[in-house]
Parts: sequence; structure tokens; C-alpha cells
Amino acid sequence: MIKANDVTRAGVVGAGTMGNGIAHIFALHGVHVTLVDVDKGLLERALATIEKNLDRQVQKGTCSDSDAVVALQRIEAETSIESLSDVEVVIEAATESPALKFELFELLSSVTAEDALLATNTSSISITEIAARVNEPSRVIGMHFMNPVPVMQLVEVIRGLETSDGVTKFTMDLCKRVSKVPVLANDYPGFVANRVLMPMINEALYCVMEGVAEPDAVDSIMQLGMNHPMGPLALADLIGLDTCLAIMEVLHHGLGDSKYRPCPLLRKYVAAGRLGRKSGCGVFEYRET
Ligand code: NAD
Repeated sequence: MIKANDVTRAGVVGAGTMGNGIAHIFALHGVHVTLVDVDKGLLERALATIEKNLDRQVQKGTCSDSDAVVALQRIEAETSIESLSDVEVVIEAATESPALKFELFELLSSVTAEDALLATNTSSISITEIAARVNEPSRVIGMHFMNPVPVMQLVEVIRGLETSDGVTKFTMDLCKRVSKVPVLANDYPGFVANRVLMPMINEALYCVMEGVAEPDAVDSIMQLGMNHPMGPLALADLIGLDTCLAIMEVLHHGLGDSKYRPCPLLRKYVAAGRLGRKSGCGVFEYRET
């Protein structure tokens, strides 16, 4: 396997909230990125978001104008997984659905070189189960970036049962290459970040459902009382309520404890299409800026 600093081509699968951020940081650190999603409209929207976020970095002085222009030119948008045949690294950031990820990794296994890294940004789905779909399971690992990717420092790196030491070291180095701080965890439902975070978000939704307090009050109590930079309900809208529900289902099913049952109000919002910021409305309403 090559060294992380020698990686020149990466593929990112899924151009949503996380995928566009991951493409952004790799391109900004000199890697050519092929960004794959199911249709052209979604890819155009992702490229526009990346351009806006790069502009924001230029305004803040954290990136030069010319670096932002070059970074955008390094990103190529494609609708087919087959376009990833020559990449050294793939980071999958498609919708949080086990069936979808299993299918994608079966495809990635046949399309990519046998020594290409296959990483998933899943928030909660078992790395070991995903790796079982791949010809060489030792090359599969979790790279759990935080939202918003260009801003947040952490990557939770998750070793599956079969992930090799070499692949783990390569992934830790790759995180550092894109200026992130990797922290290692093992493969159990929700890993660390969401095992701790999601029950808090779920409980905040129970508080709203049971009339304990209004959404604004719940968030203010947690912000002012616990010194959280953002309330749990605003954070749920940022993450996406469908993603939160999918993670709660994995915790509930994988750990088998009723304390992880998803809040019925969360189910109701998702059923109504209130997915959070990305759909314009979740627990709170959002206007286009
Ligand atoms: P999202 O809904 O914003 O984007 C998912 C994208 O995947 C969509 O654009 C969708 O069209 C695309 N997609 C679906 N099927 C595909 C396929 N077959 N091929 C290519 N693309 C496909 O979701 P997101 O919030 O970006 O989450 C993506 C992943 O990142 C999930 O696994 C999620 O758990 C994880 N994650 C999310 C957050 C967060 O805060 N949103 C944080 C960390 C990790």
C-alpha cells in the first residue's frame, strides 16, 4: 500500500451533506476527487455548495483565492461507480442504509484495485458487516467525519474485525494529511460518537413530545446549562432527522436495549419529510439564505 502523503486520486460516493465536505477537504489538500452521486442535479448542487464553502474560507483568510480555485478544479462529478476504477482511496458517504451500503461495497469491491482503501463515513452501520461484502475485507475501515467537515477537527476511525494494522495506520495518516485529528475506536453499534450523542438527541425529542418544554427551551437549557455550543435539536436538524432515526435504529437493534428506542416524534417528522436543514424544515424551520 502507498503512503498517505502519496495519494493523488480519491473517490467520494454520495454528494450530500457529508460527501461534499469530504470532497472539499481532499481537493484542498491536493488530491484529485471523483465525486459520485445518483443524478446530475445533486452533483451540481454539491459543487455549488463546495464553491460557496471555499469562498467562505477565502473571506475568513483560512485559504487563498488561488488555492480555492484550484481545489474546485480538482473535483470531477460522475454518476457511475465504475468511474472509480483508478482511485487509491474511496470514502463512501451515501445515505445511511445498511442495504444500500452493502450493495455499494460489493460494487466497489469489483470496480477498484485490490489494494485501494475502502472507507465508509457511516455513523453507525457495522464496519465488519460492510467489509464482509468485499473481496479483501482487511482494506475496509470506518472514517467517521464530523459535520460540517471543513470545520470540524475530529475523524473517528473505526477498525472492523478484519481491518489490517497497515490499513489502520494508513487511514490515521490520511486523516492527518487532510489536517484532521484521527481517534481510533472499535466496531460496536454507534461506535463512540453516536453511542453517546444520539440518545441525548432522542431524549431531547421525548422532552418536546411529552410537553416537558418547547424546542427552543430544550436547546437553550442544554446550551446555557451544559455549555454546549449548539442545542441537541438544532444539532439533530443539522445532522438530518432521517440520519438520526437510522442511527437510533442501529443502536436499538444492535445493542438490544429498549433505552435506545427511537422517539415516536422523530419517526413522525421523518415520515412527514421534515428531515432538518437539508429539507428546509425539521424540528425548526429554515429559510434559504
Ligand atoms: P445526505 O442525505 O445528505 O446525502 C446522502 C447522499 O447519498 C445523497 O446525495 C444521495 O443521493 C446519495 N446516494 C444515495 N444512494 C447512492 C448511490 N447508490 N450512489 C451514490 N450516491 C448515493 O446524507 P449525509 O448526511 O451526507 O450522510 C451520508 C453518510 O454520512 C451517512 O452514512 C451518514 O450516517 C454519515 N454521517 C452523517 C453525518 C451528518 O451530520 N449528516 C455526520 C457523520 C456521518
